[in-house]
Amino acid sequence: MPTSFRITEPIKAEGIFRVSQFDMQMLGRVTGQIQVPCDRCLKPVTFDVDLDIDEKLVYSLDVPNVKKPGEDIGDLEERYWIYDKTDYDFEPLIVDAILQSLPVTIVCQEDCKGLCPKCGQNLNLASCQCETIEIDPRWAKLAQLRDGEVE
Ligand SMILES: [Zn+2]
Ligand SMILES: [Zn+2]
Repeated sequence: MPTSFRITEPIKAEGIFRVSQFDMQMLGRVTGQIQVPCDRCLKPVTFDVDLDIDEKLVYSLDVPNVKKPGEDIGDLEERYWIYDKTDYDFEPLIVDAILQSLPVTIVCQEDCKGLCPKCGQNLNLASCQCETIEIDPRWAKLAQLRDGEVE
């Protein structure tokens, strides 16, 4: 799951708040364009952002009013974004919604070969000279023995 992104077209958020007695619902739409590095080769992959926001917000002072019996603050945070009356920063909420909308695995192309773990060569562009044979963990001790690392 990606944890950050680069904005390549301004992120625009618009919507409405539905205010209830103790909480609010934010209904809106977020659009824009972002780039996230490929998990394997780090090449930027572009995503058009166009998603609906439907989040519930509560002021910290109203937390006791929306908390279900036996629910702890962690459970409540699953359902609510908690705000102070003085804090109207909705960026984390929007960033989170964008991250949630992205695929778990980001690849620039289905068969991206990634980077060589040894020399860092992008294997989509060229191959490298590194040894590519993976050592089976069961044989690793033997390899160490050969290298004189086992006492
Ligand atoms: Zn890639
Ligand atoms: Zn290499």
